[in-house]
Amino acid sequence: MKSYKTMTQSLHTHSLFDDGKAAPEEMVRAAAAAGLKIFGSSLHSPIPDEVWTCRPERVEAFKQEMQRLEKAYAEQLEVYCGVEYDLLSDKGYLEGFDYVIASVHGIVANGATWSMDDTRERSRRMIVLAFDGDADACAETYFQRVQTISEIPEADIVGHFDLLTKFDEPEQLFNVSSKRYRDAALTAMEKLVKAGKIFELNTGAVSRGYRTEFYPSNRLLRELHDLGGKLTITSDSHGADTVDFGYAEAEQAARDAGFREIWQFDGKKFVPTEL
Ligand SMILES: [Zn+2]
Ligand SMILES: [Zn+2]
Repeated sequence: MKSYKTMTQSLHTHSLFDDGKAAPEEMVRAAAAAGLKIFGSSLHSPIPDEVWTCRPERVEAFKQEMQRLEKAYAEQLEVYCGVEYDLLSDKGYLEGFDYVIASVHGIVANGATWSMDDTRERSRRMIVLAFDGDADACAETYFQRVQTISEIPEADIVGHFDLLTKFDEPEQLFNVSSKRYRDAALTAMEKLVKAGKIFELNTGAVSRGYRTEFYPSNRLLRELHDLGGKLTITSDSHGADTVDFGYAEAEQAARDAGFREIWQFDGKKFVPTEL
């Protein structure tokens, strides 16, 4: 059963409607079994030709299924219908969901779209082919894009702030200690904090074995705290066995970084809860 104290919800999750491995109902049951009070599925907003996103014609069916589950499981937990809005998607997908996680999974450079989320080899090729091997330039382009989430009023949460480092263990593709990398990351962070956006401490890449540190890295997490940033905890779960993966460690990491509150959804808006 639960080994964490503050988190009562799992809002960043996927299902068979996008690239998740389980039906929404299996995810809802897993969340209820884990003792969570609130579950939300955050659909990958459609992007043409990207198979990991929801197909446009399936969005309505997703909403209907989430409404059905909301009623069917009302006695066990609250169910919400969210979106993980990718900045390459049509802006129309910012509307019509209970909450919005805004994420950058890919950047456009040298006339092509490059995924930060695909494979280590593809990330390496992006740095070589689109940025002439200049990893700092790649990081600058990525974080400038993430920074624009500050201009999206509908966005509640900033998804996996430093996703570009997904394949940085054990061998680094990016020099996260360079001045250019840090300036780019901190400039974006400052803008997003000022805009009131909530950051997620995302355990997904750890649960899938890519990383040992959550997003954002421990170092960026401390800096987020020092800037007065708001934090929530998410699992970015793609299967029924990981809806609350790493929550106890994430709560501890947040505490270690100085956070004393965690933001959670109350059904309408996000409110702080004591950590
Ligand atoms: Zn994502
Ligand atoms: Zn996700």
